[in-house]
Amino acid sequence: MAVACIGLGANTGNRQANLRLALQGITRMARVQAVSSLYETDPEAATPQPPYYNAVCRIETGLQPRSLLRFLKGLEHEIGRRPGGERWGPRPIDLDVLLYADAVVESDELTVPHPRLAERAFVLVPLAEIAPGLRHPVLGKTIAALRRAAGAAGVRKIAPPGWDGVAGAEDEPVRL
Ligand code: AMP
Repeated sequence: MAVACIGLGANTGNRQANLRLALQGITRMARVQAVSSLYETDPEAATPQPPYYNAVCRIETGLQPRSLLRFLKGLEHEIGRRPGGERWGPRPIDLDVLLYADAVVESDELTVPHPRLAERAFVLVPLAEIAPGLRHPVLGKTIAALRRAAGAAGVRKIAPPGWDGVAGAEDEPVRL
């Protein structure tokens, strides 16, 4: 079993419901250890589009990184995302493998840690809530340090932890 962190985003449809559906889907293949607060964030896109809802979760899974990615792509499809949209365009759901244990993966299909993790406040702010002490295996810096460097511009908290109703309520909080 490996601990991994997944980034969730949505900016069309019922954004909160889409994120909740994704978290419920993830429980089919992983134990969800923690889910961050829910945030609304300004889109980083050349063309105007609606603001995103973002959150991250920490999971424990028996899936290898590539299988995890394929499972997440299947979930995106279930929730209504269809291939062929513009690269940074609006989407009902976006699921990213942010970190997978200490793994460093570089392939056509998958890059872990996620290549833009270290510069995205909308990922680092929620990630620092649930995994502040995790170390980026390439940069050698903790998530807390990366989050301090990135700031929090354009990232607004919408709801505290518990908004999803999915994270294992039986678990003690784990500080990594
Ligand atoms: P996106 O538009 O964000 O859904 O990403 C498009 C493609 O990025 C996917 O089809 C993946 O094959 C690829 N990709 C590479 N690394 C990752 C990662 N760490 N998490 C999610 N997708 C990734």
